[in-house]
Amino acid sequence: MACGAESGNDFLARGCPAVPELPSATAQTTELMQRGLRRLAITFVNHAGSVLVKGVPLERLALVASQGVGFSPVADAFGATGLIDPQQSLARPDGDLRLKPDLTALRPLDPASGWAWAPGVRHGRDGEVYSLDQRGFCARQQAAFAAAGLSALAGFEIEWMVGLPQPVGSAGGWTPAVVGGPYGADRLVQGLDYLTAVAEALDAAELPWLQLHPEYGAGQFELSLAASPPLEAADRLVAARLVIQQVSRRFGWISSFAPLVTADLVGNGGHLHLSVTDQGVPLLGGGMGTAGLTARGEALLAGLLEQLPALMPLACALAVSYERLAPGRWAAPFQVWGVENREAALRLVPAGGGEPGHLEFKVADLSANPYLLVGAVLAVAQNALQQPRVLPPPLSGDPAAAAAAVAPRLPQTLTEAVRAFEASAVLGEAMGEQLQRTVVEARLAEVRRSDALTDEALIASTRAWPS
Ligand code: GLU
Ligand code: MG
Repeated sequence: MACGAESGNDFLARGCPAVPELPSATAQTTELMQRGLRRLAITFVNHAGSVLVKGVPLERLALVASQGVGFSPVADAFGATGLIDPQQSLARPDGDLRLKPDLTALRPLDPASGWAWAPGVRHGRDGEVYSLDQRGFCARQQAAFAAAGLSALAGFEIEWMVGLPQPVGSAGGWTPAVVGGPYGADRLVQGLDYLTAVAEALDAAELPWLQLHPEYGAGQFELSLAASPPLEAADRLVAARLVIQQVSRRFGWISSFAPLVTADLVGNGGHLHLSVTDQGVPLLGGGMGTAGLTARGEALLAGLLEQLPALMPLACALAVSYERLAPGRWAAPFQVWGVENREAALRLVPAGGGEPGHLEFKVADLSANPYLLVGAVLAVAQNALQQPRVLPPPLSGDPAAAAAAVAPRLPQTLTEAVRAFEASAVLGEAMGEQLQRTVVEARLAEVRRSDALTDEALIASTRAWPS
């Protein structure tokens, strides 16, 4: 891969090629039409983490890029299952926003059917970016990071399970669509046609990837996306999930990105990998601290560690997310950092083999709105670097076996996580009152939805999420 990053030591802090000069929408339309693309899906991700879309014919690209397409602000009050909890302030029938595609991020989605894709940003009628737009928030944080002389590369790891569709009217349940053992080459072979199709579809969608393989759980797979600037990493996650979903449907299967698919299986994570440089100097390797951390790298880690509970409603947005976060599932539900420790919420992958060190934010799952998560992580990282901080020693071994004072559990319910989020001055300042408050409202709506369900019904309600 040209611009790479990954889950192991080969997460590269190499720069990506400079963004080429933006062609005009008209020139871009001609070029895309010549490649057989005919229509454009413009997406944004709402507060609940659902990807919402409008489709337009490519001929209208120039107009749509300047005027946008209509989208009601109520979309941020849609819950995980699409229902609107009326207690949210955004649950109103009035108002309109203009969703404009970001032409610098436009790429093919499914060239065989003529679809291209672009992430959108919602604007008000006044032409300003909507203050609650999640991608707008992420872009602002990335710009502030750069203005402070900092730069980051990020890449998501996607875990998902494939299952057979359940007969209509059945009580539901989950039957893995592919057999084979954990990380098993037998599962690779059993699912070879599928994984080949996924790989080809990712290539066709111009989504650079580093690894694709069976994960631990039954019918579970994992994809590591290559590193890029953080905003683009969030974009790539959105597009890659759509690609996987489309291929799974072609095979007649359901792909579940849900944090938990059944109570007895491991969950699906959506880990975020991050490397940071300051004035071009890597912070997470090449220093004199633990595992080669620089003093600034230690401050970065200490600041992130402190804000982990507050980041949880952004990293793990569903009530069922907190069922995934049980010890022993490598979902890393402890507020600790560790060197290559897969139960630590922050896993340091030290520099080695010519690669700089990087961090894996391991606790996140795919219910996260990646723009909110990435933007918030950048805000916390920037704040952390404003002063020296003392980093506690890394946790080695199983955090569950350590004293609670040394390895505290992260919030164990969404309600608990929301309290930490509300109390965070760093996130409050970065997000602004209205964005923070409406995210809180969305999470509390999810709490109310889950309160009415048994554990089993809760898992079932988002099992096929987000399809
Ligand atoms: N499936 C685990 C999770 O829920 C992660 C396994 C791993 O990649 O370490 O996050
Ligand atoms: Mg994994």
